[in-house]
Amino acid sequence: MSNTFLPFSKPTIDEVTIASVGEVLRSGWITSGPKVAEFEKQLSAYFGGRPVRTFNSGTCTMEIALRIAGIGEGDEVITTPISWVATSNVILEVGATPVFADIDPVTRNIDLDKLEAAITPRTRAIIPVYLAGKPLDMDRLYAIAAKHKLRVVEDAAQALGSSWKGKPIGSFGDFVSFSFQANKNITTSEGGCLVLNNEAEAVIAEKYRLQGVSRSGWDGIDVDVLGGKYNMTDIAAAIGLGQFAHLQDITAHRRKLAKRYFDTLGKDFESRTGAILPPADFTDTNWHLFQLELPARMSRPEFMARMKEHDVGVGFHYAPIHLFSMYKALGFREGMFPISERIGKQIVSLPMFYSLTEDDVVRVCAALEKVLA
Ligand SMILES: *Cc1c(COP(=O)(O)O)cnc(C)c1O
Repeated sequence: MSNTFLPFSKPTIDEVTIASVGEVLRSGWITSGPKVAEFEKQLSAYFGGRPVRTFNSGTCTMEIALRIAGIGEGDEVITTPISWVATSNVILEVGATPVFADIDPVTRNIDLDKLEAAITPRTRAIIPVYLAGKPLDMDRLYAIAAKHKLRVVEDAAQALGSSWKGKPIGSFGDFVSFSFQANKNITTSEGGCLVLNNEAEAVIAEKYRLQGVSRSGWDGIDVDVLGGKYNMTDIAAAIGLGQFAHLQDITAHRRKLAKRYFDTLGKDFESRTGAILPPADFTDTNWHLFQLELPARMSRPEFMARMKEHDVGVGFHYAPIHLFSMYKALGFREGMFPISERIGKQIVSLPMFYSLTEDDVVRVCAALEKVLA
């Protein structure tokens, strides 16, 4: 058995994509141009014709969605403590107040009962996160949003290729944000896209993307809002186009690998080891991550070090946001969100990426059995 080190994530860029990046570099037009337009067109077709705009990160797409919705000072936005800190940083960036609701221990996503309980007269929006690519109960999420007249900015950074009742995530709903950062299911090295509700929102998104500039008349420009510098380059879009062509294969392969994890570990894995597996969903989730909750007897640093001795890389997603010192300075405390705190301490991400093989998964499982024995 080979002992090459298996990272927990790794991008796969094919030769066709590399050649197309070379073409862009030789073309004389390397910033936003025809490749960006083509990428947005293909994404829009995938999302059922909804307007799509690309950006240079998944983070700024969420910030821009909040700005388009007019959310700012005095407004509360509810999200989960178990996400990348970007999810709540954008709430602070627009001057609004982040409010957390604890997670469901099984799905590890925001608990919709707790979300509903956290709504106040100042609540204006929700940012749900689909951790590991697993969607929420989307019908219930949008019923809550409609009942309380809230905007939704879906942090679907990890959920490209996931679906709900047969519809791709992004093809329905309010604002839906995706990330194309290097570890995501498809990448542009760095980048993101936002699915919008109508062309009017898309025009505003374009302004926020590029210094607030709008075109007026055949030779005039104007600036009427404060925008930033968030455009995607054609170099990145060329990578995205090459990756997007494989989305179906990527999703199918990840589902096969997830199934291999479950089959190899066996039905008694949880009772034997005390570790907790993710929900065995092979329909909706794109398996962006394969995450275990470690038993309390095993600390994460020890687990990661021992897996490394077996040449297996392990990641963790995520530490609870409310316990970062900047958030504690805002008044958040340990004990506020106990399930997030338990899972945030014990969660690990095992290798899961497109070029991983089923044999690799068997090797990871063998290491896991030794380390958890
Ligand atoms: C990756 C990620 C982000 C941030 O995306 P960037 O493209 O790195 O800005 C936000 N939220 C979640 C859940 C992510 O996984």
